[in-house]
Amino acid sequence: MRRRTTEEGHGLMRITLVQGDITTQDVDAVVNAANSSLLGGGGVDGAIHRRGGPAILAECRHLRASHYDRGLPTGQAVATTAGDLPARWVIHTVGPVHSSAEDRTHLLASCYRESLRVADELGATSIAFPAVSAGVYGWPMGDAARTAVDTVWATPTQVTDVRFVLFTPDAYAAFENALDTTGS
Ligand code: ADP
Repeated sequence: MRRRTTEEGHGLMRITLVQGDITTQDVDAVVNAANSSLLGGGGVDGAIHRRGGPAILAECRHLRASHYDRGLPTGQAVATTAGDLPARWVIHTVGPVHSSAEDRTHLLASCYRESLRVADELGATSIAFPAVSAGVYGWPMGDAARTAVDTVWATPTQVTDVRFVLFTPDAYAAFENALDTTGS
């Protein structure tokens, strides 16, 4: 597992890049790149439900019925138990599908901001993010990384340990580049 930590930035926040599987992360909250149905899917969503077991889906179904009968809107975030994962909570957020016709960067930024807001509500101080929207939703990895890093740096939060957990060497390199050039 490759790992790199940067201690610059605001307040006490530390950002760490990890190349690996987000389901093994020992953090308070793991962020899921969910779809608006909240009923599971492929990619990181599938991995989280597989490893986390049925308790996560049961709570997602309940949330769906009680609050989101039309689905969780893009850019929003909601928490459930983390089931059998090492984390305490899963924060589900719905990234935007990439579009070349329309700039949806604000929706992708909202996923990171809203996830941190939910983490603050929970009292979580450590969080692991995947590269939201950079898989099936088609976001170019460089742009996804830039928005992720810049938004997290710019968001006031009580979370002190932010990890971006990247599945592939290319994703890791894109986030490393974004971290090296943030604010420039
Ligand atoms: P989206 O639908 O938001 O694009 P995906 O799950 O398809 O979400 O992909 C988001 C990113 O998560 C991709 O870069 C993908 O390679 C990565 N990914 C897939 N499985 C895992 C995992 N177990 N841990 C961390 N990242 C993962």
